[in-house]
Amino acid sequence: MEERTGTADKMDIKSLNLEQLTEFLEQIGEKKYRAKQIYEWMHVRHVSDFDEMTNISKELRARLKDSCELTVLRPLKVQISKQDDTRKYLFALPDGNSIESVRMKYRHGNTVCISSQAGCRMGCTFCASAVGGLERSLRPSEMLEQVYRIGTDIGERISNVVVMGIGEPLDNYENLLTFIRLICDEHGLNISQRNITVSTCGIVPKIRALADEKLQITLALSLHAPVQEKRKELMPAAGAYELPDVIKACDYYFSKTGRRMTYEYSLISGVNDSPQDAEALGRLLGGRNCHVNLIPVNPVRERSFVQPEDGILTLFKNKLEKYKINVTIRRAMGRDIDGACGQLRKNYT
Ligand code: SAH
Repeated sequence: MEERTGTADKMDIKSLNLEQLTEFLEQIGEKKYRAKQIYEWMHVRHVSDFDEMTNISKELRARLKDSCELTVLRPLKVQISKQDDTRKYLFALPDGNSIESVRMKYRHGNTVCISSQAGCRMGCTFCASAVGGLERSLRPSEMLEQVYRIGTDIGERISNVVVMGIGEPLDNYENLLTFIRLICDEHGLNISQRNITVSTCGIVPKIRALADEKLQITLALSLHAPVQEKRKELMPAAGAYELPDVIKACDYYFSKTGRRMTYEYSLISGVNDSPQDAEALGRLLGGRNCHVNLIPVNPVRERSFVQPEDGILTLFKNKLEKYKINVTIRRAMGRDIDGACGQLRKNYT
């Protein structure tokens, strides 16, 4: 039960589902129906203190304070993009670590990009989150809180969540699943599973396990190179699995869930943007019902990677389309606040 335990050995009450919360309250001699009330205070009203749970007796609130931790993230800094109202939040975790989350506003609603770990141990060469390695994985409550605090701050509903911030979500598998079930729960925020995207660098056994959960979430694979050698150079963690096995695992995900895979490909000038790379990518993915997102690499302070020129991007896209692949070129939002992919970092800088 390690992942359910908060700091100072208190119960991490916000990571419990309704059934577990009911059980917990019964164990401490409370009435069952209290669970629903407390759950609503946490997951619908997003209160930040037990004392705000006004239909709960003072005695019970005191007992909860003694035995439970109500995880609440404190925003240390909020940056708002002048270009497109993208907001980047730096949150303090209860243990002093910090993480970042981003709110993007689209016509269809608000998307929040959350972190799944404080730091990351995957080591991708182009990514700022990899600098400094992994501190620790986040608890379900800490993933939920990123969405809850941002929703409260903007006073609007969050309709979509992408797990594409700091960390490798499949390196925090059980907590990720608990998070997904809680955020999609009809008694909570009730976000549709189809509006959740999880992005992974490609941990094969975990992709297969996720497929067997039969969720309706979208899985995105960070590909970034069409052949093993080059991929391994860019993404050291990719060395653990052969590329054909990664793609097979993604095919398995599609066959089990019926959810079309997304492949992410960050284009880096002179590294993975040649016509030969495009051809190889076309051959690798051709014939699949999938979507490819081409993302011009975002500049990161410690790295010298450069975005390809527009003409190269178009050429790359056209080549893939010859293989009948759905392709989108993604332009970064929130550029002026370093809010784009790969620019989030755990340190307060
Ligand atoms: N660990 C997960 C999710 C986090 S990163 C993963 O690897 O998928 C989200 C996406 O941003 C990934 O596709 C990642 O490869 C990409 N990314 C990281 N740094 C980037 C950068 N500097 N420019 C563009 N994309 C980047």
